[in-house]
Amino acid sequence: MGKIVLDRVTKSFGHVEVIPPLDLQIDDGEFVVFVGPSGCGKSTLLRLIAGLEDVTSGEIRIDGKDATETPPAARGLAMVFQSYALYPHMSVRKNIAFPLKMAGMAKDRIDEKVMNAAKVLNLSDYLDRRPGQLSGGQRQRVAIGRAIVREPAAFLFDEPLSNLDAALRVNMRLEISELHNTLATTMIYVTHDQVEAMTMADKIVVLNRGRVEQVGSPLDLYTAPRNLFVAGFIGSPRMNFIEGPAAAAHQASTIGIRPEHLTVSQESGQWEGRVSVAEHLGSDTFLHVQTADQGTLTARVDGEFPVRHGARVWLSPQETKLHRFDGNGLAMRENG
Ligand code: ADP
Ligand code: MG
Repeated sequence: MGKIVLDRVTKSFGHVEVIPPLDLQIDDGEFVVFVGPSGCGKSTLLRLIAGLEDVTSGEIRIDGKDATETPPAARGLAMVFQSYALYPHMSVRKNIAFPLKMAGMAKDRIDEKVMNAAKVLNLSDYLDRRPGQLSGGQRQRVAIGRAIVREPAAFLFDEPLSNLDAALRVNMRLEISELHNTLATTMIYVTHDQVEAMTMADKIVVLNRGRVEQVGSPLDLYTAPRNLFVAGFIGSPRMNFIEGPAAAAHQASTIGIRPEHLTVSQESGQWEGRVSVAEHLGSDTFLHVQTADQGTLTARVDGEFPVRHGARVWLSPQETKLHRFDGNGLAMRENG
């Protein structure tokens, strides 16, 4: 079990309200990602759920029971931090076993659980090493192992991959997703990286200044962002935003168009411009096009697209893929 409900939860530090009243439901077995810019309250929210911070008001329920006043150790949740917090003088085996030993579990049961966790995490051959003799990814797995043996109702991850290099991050991302498939336990994962959010989540919670901007599946957020903030935060390269007459022509204050929804022609089209930078990624090329009226627009084209820095091109939006926003930055639906 691992259903977590936040009911009008708030958090203030002194008189600074970091989390205004917030409602959220996390279903049993879900992989939920909290994503948002640095300082938006992701860690605070996770720490409130873990019980490492007290709520200022509101209620937290875990599997239907009020856990608002429950101390962290009794909530049945396991937190995995970015700094692995391993004991350097202890072997991997002892590090993983530590919470069970503290709980007074019998040695043969501990051994069995440690072996099982090590197997799931591909650490079986490393049990007698110390953390200092492991790679960053392996250390992170030991920290996860220590959480697994507790059989928590939910795992809470706070930017667990930030200390790893880019290639390892991609690897660990896959490993954590696989782990979620294997364990089918609720996971709440905090990151500022929208790519991690998009690739890992069943459900993404986009936070901005402590507020929930939108909750939805990765594709929901990508195809139907509720407002300018979500539209600009989810997706890389970022959505192009256009104001003024071009937006007014669509009865909107701002229109948004993703880079892959701009058609690029070397002959004709809606907006003329010059390629200021062409970023060749191999599979794709991102063209940053300086236009006369719409500023710089970014278009995604095929990696083989024959165009260079300085070339004259025309961009045309695919009409059905336009996003329209009103003067308050809210998405306008059809006839809206
Ligand atoms: P994130 O994890 O999204 O980067 P945090 O949850 O760490 O954001 O912080 C949210 C806001 O709360 C920030 O403005 C931060 O300065 C503030 N904050 C966090 N912890 C404390 C604290 N213990 N005392 C005072 N302010 C805090
Ligand atoms: Mg944080």
